[in-house]
Amino acid sequence: MTAKQIADNLNRSGGWTRKTKQTSQGYMALCPNHADKNPSLSVRETESGRIMLKCFATSCTDVRSVYSSVESALGMEFGALNGPGAGYEPAARVEPIKGVRKDFEAIVPVPDDAPTFSLGSRRFKSKEFGAPVAAWVYRNAEGRPMGYVARYEQRDDDGNVVDKMIWPWTFAIREGKREWVVGAMPEPRVPYNLDLIHASPDAVIQWHEGEKAADAGGRLFPNWIPTTTVGGGSAPHLTDFSPFRGRTVILCQDLDAPGSEYVMLVAARLIEEGAEVRVLRFPTSHHVADGVLVKGTYVTGPGDDAADHEERGWT
Ligand SMILES: [Zn+2]
Repeated sequence: MTAKQIADNLNRSGGWTRKTKQTSQGYMALCPNHADKNPSLSVRETESGRIMLKCFATSCTDVRSVYSSVESALGMEFGALNGPGAGYEPAARVEPIKGVRKDFEAIVPVPDDAPTFSLGSRRFKSKEFGAPVAAWVYRNAEGRPMGYVARYEQRDDDGNVVDKMIWPWTFAIREGKREWVVGAMPEPRVPYNLDLIHASPDAVIQWHEGEKAADAGGRLFPNWIPTTTVGGGSAPHLTDFSPFRGRTVILCQDLDAPGSEYVMLVAARLIEEGAEVRVLRFPTSHHVADGVLVKGTYVTGPGDDAADHEERGWT
């Protein structure tokens, strides 16, 4: 993997989605070694192709554990990135500066007395992006909320989306306080719509990348239960796949390279669980011309997902 690919993957893992920013040195990524809210891990590549990692958070001084956290977040073998060897002594831990998120302990399912999640509430605003534009709830098999995934967008004056991010919200104890925190729910994470999957043990399941596409899939194919992993993205192995044991699952991929990579990882885990895996193929299009039904080729665009197909008029 190149430095750019590593940064891209980290920025899409753990339920997060951030655009990778380039610096003069390399790329900035969300650090998997601490609860990172804004990318503070620099990822660069030496001329010989060695990956150099440095986290700028003052709480994150153990370089060896930065390397092993990145390896584990990307599903690589321990030591694959060639971090510091056995003689390495981490520098003393510096007191965290303001703005660096402290560790939290999730309380799941979300207790009844927790403040209700709502898009309008000040509690769930981002300084940079404002209020979330959409949010999805993840439930356990009994239907109790486990956590939320919220989507934030920045638009230009013409209303075009110029940047977007996904924040997972988890109810937790942090520094003795019970509160909503930005962070992924504990692993193994529940898949999206687990309660519906559990309630209909014979229903066919449709798998999408991301909740927005899953919801669109649910409207397009109402007999199949739509699911995904938290925030879509590149870390499906952090989700519990046991609910899919023996189930029929239809993979509906985003039509781009990360989409292919994601469904391959998902397919491998599903097959391990003994699920029957099918792939959604793109249908012939039909339109009416001069009162006759005409068959045509359905033309797809790069990165298309079920939400795009729905917008284009699939019914
Ligand atoms: Zn860090």
